[in-house]
Amino acid sequence: MNKIIYLICSLLVMITFGCQSNKSEQETIKTSKTSENEELLNGTVSLEYAADSYQFKNGFPVTVRATISRHNMDDLEDMAAFLLEDIGLPSMTNNEASPIGSGCTYSDEVALDHGEILAVGKRLKKLQEKYPGRISAQAGPLVKLRMYKEMEDAKATEKLTGRWKMGYLSSCGGVFSKLGVLHDGSIVPCSALHALTMGNILTDDLLELWHNSSVIRDVRDRYVVPLSQIEECKNCEWVKYCNGGCPGIVQQMQNTVMAPSWRSCYKNFLKFNNLRSIYDAYPQEETKTWQIK
Ligand code: SF4
Repeated sequence: MNKIIYLICSLLVMITFGCQSNKSEQETIKTSKTSENEELLNGTVSLEYAADSYQFKNGFPVTVRATISRHNMDDLEDMAAFLLEDIGLPSMTNNEASPIGSGCTYSDEVALDHGEILAVGKRLKKLQEKYPGRISAQAGPLVKLRMYKEMEDAKATEKLTGRWKMGYLSSCGGVFSKLGVLHDGSIVPCSALHALTMGNILTDDLLELWHNSSVIRDVRDRYVVPLSQIEECKNCEWVKYCNGGCPGIVQQMQNTVMAPSWRSCYKNFLKFNNLRSIYDAYPQEETKTWQIK
């Protein structure tokens, strides 16, 4: 319970950069220098304003997450320099604009394609080398490329990763350890699943919902669904190793959580990038030391 409360509290100081893709309680800041369509992104706060805000001035702990989209993907290096050098934040994290919420409406204009995922992931890897231990990710290009590499490793060695239940819709373990509370009090299994309301923090018993809500239990049930039972996946060479990707995207696009997300599909990624494997995307010496901090 304390863990849940901590996560709820930590959301209140989370700042996302770029595309506000859901209605969770976060502040969004414009970072793109090149975007001609800033209105596509909900950001209305300038970098200067953010740097001058009470959080930074008073040393209040601030979590910064850069949501990478087609409109700010050219500014990664400047963004990192501003946050880590000019402001002096100890670290930053990042993810990608996804077809969730307003990101769904403007998906074609903001969401990265498989080629951009690869290109951005390589540049983020270089930034990780420049700023050791200071750039992390829980989703987005870095996480996808790491996941693909683990799938390659597992296929080559038949040693399965312990990070997910390979071969099942198991990408998201979040619903076993946390849930989300949105700005209006809505309780949801995850901020990426904001359409699946379980109740409201003002009127409902959080612990009761955590244990007994059919909404969150349905998402947990993904763990027992093998990808081999899904028509599009059953003949895929990666079916024993895949995890099906983020349920939030599938829920938004197909109104179900019981399906894989094409945005995380390694088969599509390889087809798009015309690669034999993820190893071809990295020089061997980089692959050996490649890890997310
Ligand atoms: S088709 Fe895509 S989503 Fe399905 S198992 Fe293969 S890589 Fe995974």
